Amino acid sequence: MEYEPVIGLEVHAQLLTCSKMFCGCSADYAGAPPNTHVCPICLGMPGSLPIINQTAVEYTIRTALAFHCEIPPYAKFDRKNYHYPDLMKGYQISQYDLPLSRNGQVLIDDAGATKRIGIRRVHLEEDTAKLAHIDGASLIDVNRAGVPLMEIVSEPDMHSVEEARLYSLKLRQVLRYLGVSSGDMEKGAMRFEANISLRPAGSQALSTTRVEIKNLNSLRAMVHATAFEIDRQSKLLRAGQPVEQQTMGWDEVRGVTYTQRTKEEAEDYRYFPEPDLPHLEVSRAWVENMRSRLPPLPDEKRDHLVRDYGLSLYDANVITAEKEIADYFDRAAEAAHARQVEAKAVANWITGELFRLMKDSATEIEAVKIPPVQISELIALVNSGMLSTTIAKQVFEEMFVSGGTPAEIVRKRGLAQISDAGALVPVVERVIAENPQPVQDYRAGKEAVLKFLVGQVMRATRGQANPTLAADLIKQKIESTR
Ligand code: ADP
Ligand code: MG
Ligand code: ZN
Repeated sequence: MEYEPVIGLEVHAQLLTCSKMFCGCSADYAGAPPNTHVCPICLGMPGSLPIINQTAVEYTIRTALAFHCEIPPYAKFDRKNYHYPDLMKGYQISQYDLPLSRNGQVLIDDAGATKRIGIRRVHLEEDTAKLAHIDGASLIDVNRAGVPLMEIVSEPDMHSVEEARLYSLKLRQVLRYLGVSSGDMEKGAMRFEANISLRPAGSQALSTTRVEIKNLNSLRAMVHATAFEIDRQSKLLRAGQPVEQQTMGWDEVRGVTYTQRTKEEAEDYRYFPEPDLPHLEVSRAWVENMRSRLPPLPDEKRDHLVRDYGLSLYDANVITAEKEIADYFDRAAEAAHARQVEAKAVANWITGELFRLMKDSATEIEAVKIPPVQISELIALVNSGMLSTTIAKQVFEEMFVSGGTPAEIVRKRGLAQISDAGALVPVVERVIAENPQPVQDYRAGKEAVLKFLVGQVMRATRGQANPTLAADLIKQKIESTR
């Protein structure tokens, strides 16, 4: 029998608020010495009382709106009880039956096919402390405890590892566009839990047994663990053995999933309402205000580039993958419009030369020295015949290194294209004199040789000759001396 994987993801994202979820400690703890961003509240001292971070609530609702969720008029925080040394209070403040949002969706583009993935809920909770196991001791850093953590729970709508990957990338992209999370997996700002089951291909029913893989700290880990687990379950089913409902971990080093808890050992979190926090009343006016202030989101932006600038879907996707690049392109395209340069040409320079230079020098877009408006200036120089494409690429490299304007660089280095016949004729004459055999071949009707002769002129002028003019002059010269 053929089996189809069913995947549901729970994605955790740290929010970019200034302070933590329930106290005034700074949430920006990256690189800080351990236990320096702490106070009685996030240390879980008895008697301390939490206060809700309004920005964290707004970021969560904004995210939910971007995923087309419903925002119920009331929300509530609950205590999720379990015991682990990283949990300072012995419970985590989370949301159980009244989350900030539910029933949304996101569209992913899988090799040209659009797929809808349901979002069950987006809710808010707090992050835990961080344990480090060093030399037989377990050390605890409480800086992370209480950082606002948003959880996005999908419906079990994904049916391949690739869909799970694209879905995760899409979430990350939207969070970054919204500015609510860095999505930086290296810093642990985005983490995954994958729920996986298999069902007979073509079946619409969900399997009642599923495996949950916890603590996947990167997209890479999620992808590998999910692939491994699908494989493990299909082998069991093919061998006629049952798949056991359980919670698993991912062993990064060995590349295998392992049992953490079976169904019998499943934890009962004894959720109950957080008595120290009021219910949240989410007014319609507040929601509509947030909705009206949502920035343009990636899908919208991509469609705009295709529709208004004539970019291919592929280029539009590449350019909108990162908000910073999309913004850079926007500014470049605006300047191009004023110079009557095509936005498409700007896109080509960005996805071609700029991306290559950025990659070679490991430069992020924020650190690129070329002001976006200069790209169309360079293209205008090419369009006007002042620069050949080859030279323009050299100029672009220098712009990338020094941040100089194209006009400056061309002037300083004397790179302008030679479009003046008077200056080119001597070069053409020399090339003809030095290449009797090709010239003879050309006379005998081998027109392809012309390209070679033009190439010689380009070489002699270090790329500065206007190639069309060079070709004309070569033809004239050969014909006039027939
Ligand atoms: P819990 O409350 O125990 O975490 P939920 O029913 O809320 O369980 O589901 C958690 C995640 O598991 C969701 O992302 C959901 O899409 C996914 N899920 C539910 N059923 C299945 C299934 N049969 N196969 C794969 N994933 C599933
Ligand atoms: Mg779960
Ligand atoms: Zn604190």
